[in-house]
Amino acid sequence: MTDSRMTDTSSPVWHPFTQHGLNEAQPLIDRADGATLTCRDGSELIDGISSWWVVTHGHCHPPIISAIREQAEKLDQVIFAGFTHEPAERVAKGLIRLTDRHLPSHDPLSPDPLTHVFFSDSGSTSVEVALKMALGYWHRHARDHGGKPRHRIIVMEHSYHGDTIGTMSVGARGVFNQVYTPLLFDVTTIPYPAAGREQAMLDALEAACRAAHDPADKPAALIVEPLILGSGGMLFYSPATLKAMAQICAAYDVLFIADEVMTAWGRTGTLFACEPAEITPDILCLSKGMTGGSLPLAATLARRKIFDAHVSDDRADMFFHSSSFTANPIACAAAAANIAIWESEDMPARIASRGAAMQQHIDRLSTHKAFTNARRMGAIAAIDLITTGENGYMADVAPKLRAFFLERGLLLRPLGNTIYVLPPYCISDTQLNQIFTAIDEAGHLFGS
Ligand SMILES: *Cc1c(COP(=O)(O)O)cnc(C)c1O
Repeated sequence: MTDSRMTDTSSPVWHPFTQHGLNEAQPLIDRADGATLTCRDGSELIDGISSWWVVTHGHCHPPIISAIREQAEKLDQVIFAGFTHEPAERVAKGLIRLTDRHLPSHDPLSPDPLTHVFFSDSGSTSVEVALKMALGYWHRHARDHGGKPRHRIIVMEHSYHGDTIGTMSVGARGVFNQVYTPLLFDVTTIPYPAAGREQAMLDALEAACRAAHDPADKPAALIVEPLILGSGGMLFYSPATLKAMAQICAAYDVLFIADEVMTAWGRTGTLFACEPAEITPDILCLSKGMTGGSLPLAATLARRKIFDAHVSDDRADMFFHSSSFTANPIACAAAAANIAIWESEDMPARIASRGAAMQQHIDRLSTHKAFTNARRMGAIAAIDLITTGENGYMADVAPKLRAFFLERGLLLRPLGNTIYVLPPYCISDTQLNQIFTAIDEAGHLFGS
């Protein structure tokens, strides 16, 4: 390992999810192309996690970069309250077109399609916006139809929705938010539907929706990551289970919020993870892959009834949310280019081809006695390392694995003892071979 890969202790930069006291190696990245990152010293890394789940087509994807370049010379930024611009209009129309095409718009339980797009700039803010929209809807509903405004949110065990106070409140409680728990609001948690225990989760959801213990405390919304709980350890569940959840929410008039910040843009094999479940959520959160992973941007899509709840001749009814960079034109241009790719290229076929290649590796590793729970959905493969030590996010083995992979020129970042591969869709067979050969080796070295 060369000097440029070591921590520069004189740097004033405070990094995310980084324990600066451990002086772990910190490569300085100069360039990126496709699935490859190039360090300052010229060494290369294969980006096995899409730079934290954002890059979809590959780094510096030419059509996206040229859209950014063109937009940057025309309009860099403009206030979005009371003003609009062409890239944002294009993206909003594109998102509605895509949801219309890929999600059922004539769901008999909730016949109203997604009609409105609210922009923000990160996955966390898209979720904050979703929660505020849900509460705004019930506030107006109580005023117009009587009853109490609803505030309670139902969440799933092991979920992750972001790192702000609001999104930590609806996410799993653990070491990452222990310090802040006095500030987190109370939620109702239903179990993760592990294989064979789906009904227990559905029963818990139904009980929470019915709120029999306190009819005045009916929940406002359920928020869930469809099909895969990402940060919770790449935990999968089926489209049938997802659909059953949406049906319970519709039956009890509880808003269904799909946090597709990680799952959308093809990660689970289809454009949206809600697609195979044939459901349309009441509110849909998108970010990460929306610009192909090139620039920060997020969108929260809502059904008409939620938009309408914020429309009247009273200014006090408006939706009180904004980010300084709401719908930044350059980020929107990147998102528009990404939408154009999804509308002109056979992305599901490309993802299926990468998925099939990963499946062969996963099948091979499933017989490795250091591993258990080998799984794959779309372009996400995961496997759990059997260790004698602590498991979970703080497992001692995680930083050791990370360093081991880095030494082999691979960017992989295990979640505790769960090793996962979530690559850009341009990754080659050779690159996948390198990744899975190293995982195999890691099993021999670190497994028990
Ligand atoms: C990453 C993630 C978020 C948070 O997105 P940021 O852009 O990091 O704020 C929210 N929800 C899910 C499911 C995510 O994976």
